[in-house]
Amino acid sequence: MVDEGKSTLTYTHFLKEDLMIFRIAPNNGIMPDYESGQFLTIGIPVVAENYKIVRRAYSIASHPENKKYFEFVVRWVRKPLPGRVTTQLFYASEGEQVYLTKPTGNALTINQRLPDGSKDERRIVCIGGGTGIAPFVSFARHLHVVGDKREIVVLHGSSYVDELSYKGLFTDLETESLDIK
Ligand SMILES: Cc1cc2nc3c(=O)[nH]c(=O)nc-3n(C[C@H](O)[C@H](O)[C@H](O)COP(=O)(O)OP(=O)(O)OC[C@H]3O[C@@H](n4cnc5c(N)ncnc54)[C@H](O)[C@@H]3O)c2cc1C
Repeated sequence: MVDEGKSTLTYTHFLKEDLMIFRIAPNNGIMPDYESGQFLTIGIPVVAENYKIVRRAYSIASHPENKKYFEFVVRWVRKPLPGRVTTQLFYASEGEQVYLTKPTGNALTINQRLPDGSKDERRIVCIGGGTGIAPFVSFARHLHVVGDKREIVVLHGSSYVDELSYKGLFTDLETESLDIK
């Protein structure tokens, strides 16, 4: 049995027809602890499959200190066949009920310590393409909120400039850090 909680799609923002930022909040109001760089599994009842719940993994773009919602950036997979979960998500409205598992995955979390036990103060360089930027958005938000002074360099690749989904956020953070220096 899958351990998951009923949750609500609370916000949708279309960057373009096949690229969306959306937020989901657990119905019980309890946000689990997690680390930047983790992902979780969203389950959604698929209308075309008699409301069967289909699950897919998505990286969390919000930061762990945000105790209101999880944020994601998702591409609508349309070819060669419409993706089962993304098609449902792109037709969903705010208020739609979905299911979330607990955040998981340690492949992309930020080191706090070096192997010798000393504090890791190295510059963090992140390279992501398309929606693969999501964990690094979480990194940047987290480092900003906790006042971590490590420098973070984010390289975001995309086919078109309007697919640089968090350009505004990264530019604001950069401007702010330049102002502080
Ligand atoms: C750890 C992790 C994190 C992820 N994070 C993100 C994220 O932040 N954002 C994001 O957008 N995605 C992310 N993904 C990808 C995501 O999990 C889904 O794989 C993606 O959204 C597609 O799901 P879907 O159900 O819409 O497509 P699916 O229904 O799974 O289809 C996948 C592909 O198979 C093709 N296909 C399906 N059935 C057939 C068939 N019968 N014949 C031929 N082709 C077929 C579809 O056209 C499509 O190209 C992540 C994946 C992982 C593992």
